[in-house]
Amino acid sequence: MAGYFKRMFSSIKSIMAGMRVTIGYGVNPKTEVTQQYPEVRREPFDRFRGKLFVDINICTGCTACARICPVDAIVLKTVRDENKKLRPVVFDIDNAKCIYCGLCVEACPVDNCLYFEKKYEFSSYSREGLVSHFGLGEPKSAEKGPEDDRKEAVK
Ligand code: SF4
Ligand code: SF4
Repeated sequence: MAGYFKRMFSSIKSIMAGMRVTIGYGVNPKTEVTQQYPEVRREPFDRFRGKLFVDINICTGCTACARICPVDAIVLKTVRDENKKLRPVVFDIDNAKCIYCGLCVEACPVDNCLYFEKKYEFSSYSREGLVSHFGLGEPKSAEKGPEDDRKEAVK
């Protein structure tokens, strides 16, 4: 019998301890932790991994990012332009497939070419809507290289 009352008082004591915290948050506005999204938006941390961004104008088309991606989230196709430089005509990143591991960012040899933005609001009603398109498109016929050396990193 004594054990029964001991357990009962112990339970009441722990419930009261929990309620003290709950009531404390309820009556003291300074301890408010709820943010009124979307009016108030949380600023992500500096190393937050949001949506991937490619500065396509400095991308060399080396395909290192697409080759290292463990889930084939990057589709990259290149052709040689008139100066025999690789031109990324297609550079798609499927944000639905991406697991935000950061391997592609680490593999990219060009500073500030491929990086995570702090953007985290990019939901979509379709899978296609989750694909980011960065490619430069096919060159005009005058820009095409003599052999039009076409490479596909990932299909
Ligand atoms: S972050 Fe990882 S999964 Fe996403 S595209 Fe880069 S390598 Fe692929
Ligand atoms: S690794 Fe960097 S430079 Fe190479 S194709 Fe990818 S984004 Fe472009």
